[in-house]
Amino acid sequence: MPTDIKSLTREELEAQFKAWHEPAFRVAQLLDWLYARRATSWDEMSNLPKTLRAKLAETYSLQILELARKQGSPDTTQKFLWKLADGAFIESVLIPANPALYGEASDRHTLCISTQVGCAYGCRFCASGLDGWKRNLSVHEIVEQILATERIVPGDEGQVTSDAATPPATRPASRAVDNLVVMGMGEPLANYDNLIAALKILNAPWGGGIGARRITISTSGLAPQIRKLAVEPMQFRLAISLHGATDEVRNRIMPVNKKYPLTELTAACEDYQKLKGRMITLEYILIAGINDSLEQTRPLAALAKKLYAKVNLIPYNKVEGLPWVRPAEEVCERFLAALEKLGVTATLRREKGGDIDAACGQLRLKTERELAESK
Ligand code: SAH
Ligand code: SF4
Repeated sequence: MPTDIKSLTREELEAQFKAWHEPAFRVAQLLDWLYARRATSWDEMSNLPKTLRAKLAETYSLQILELARKQGSPDTTQKFLWKLADGAFIESVLIPANPALYGEASDRHTLCISTQVGCAYGCRFCASGLDGWKRNLSVHEIVEQILATERIVPGDEGQVTSDAATPPATRPASRAVDNLVVMGMGEPLANYDNLIAALKILNAPWGGGIGARRITISTSGLAPQIRKLAVEPMQFRLAISLHGATDEVRNRIMPVNKKYPLTELTAACEDYQKLKGRMITLEYILIAGINDSLEQTRPLAALAKKLYAKVNLIPYNKVEGLPWVRPAEEVCERFLAALEKLGVTATLRREKGGDIDAACGQLRLKTERELAESK
């Protein structure tokens, strides 16, 4: 398989173009086609000489994510199911910044992206890990999720022209996607190198142009990789999928806790927090009868205070075929109030519409099962 063009940095392309004796401004033109105009073919790149286009096509692939299924509407959360070159499916979820609650249109969005096909970590409540892990996403497959989404949901950069007269490297005024959360399918820190390479491209001014502070990486708690992330130069935000404040609870629902128990995870987070000086978010799904008793609020508050973290409470989204359910609304509210009383900054996700908001991994699972049945 040739290297995909969207897995290379500007510097790498410059080195290649130099070796080909192509002038440096050609790199800027190419990057403009890839990341500003989101070109889907070499032929489109009309201001690049034909010979250069042929050389590029011979050397690199230019893979585009194919939309297999879409769910939701422009005013609410939209889910995209992408088919990859090898036939595997992944999901991205687009969340509008101002849900059309107040009747205003929203042009800014947060995109939730996937990093693996399936997941090896097998958290008991999660759809992504149900059928195990298939493979890591490559750099361009991570990057393309943003570009493919923006081809469907354009930003306010106006008409994208593709005539040769348009000056190259005109950065879009604003992109449709300006916030990223790496919370889709897969464990991002288990695909560390591809993740960081993709985020560098998405962060670069010549690439996605998304500020590092607008990129949140969510992990189930891979302590060594959290330490590695702490010494990366980029200032990403970190979210920890905690879901239990004691080893006893965490061990029951997250096998990863046996490998990296809470003392180890907490120590890695403390290091991250000290080195980065950034606030960590602790994610806590509330699952009825599993982790929603008020007893959990004390150890949870202690952890949050130790890490200067805020807590994000998320009522569980039902996954077909799994026995878990979300607690009653009063139970969630009581849990939140108890945490606040203990002096913790916490939020509770209250929006309705669990159907479409259902956690990542479910549309893929549904589609794969339907495909299997129709065979
Ligand atoms: N593997 C990473 C990122 C992907 S999962 C991680 O675990 O953090 C993103 C988030 O969705 C995690 O916090 C995960 O626990 C949560 N999640 C998974 N299934 C869910 C469900 N059915 N309802 C609500 N949240 C869920
Ligand atoms: Fe994997 Fe995250 Fe789902 Fe756990 S919650 S199975 S780590 S995707």
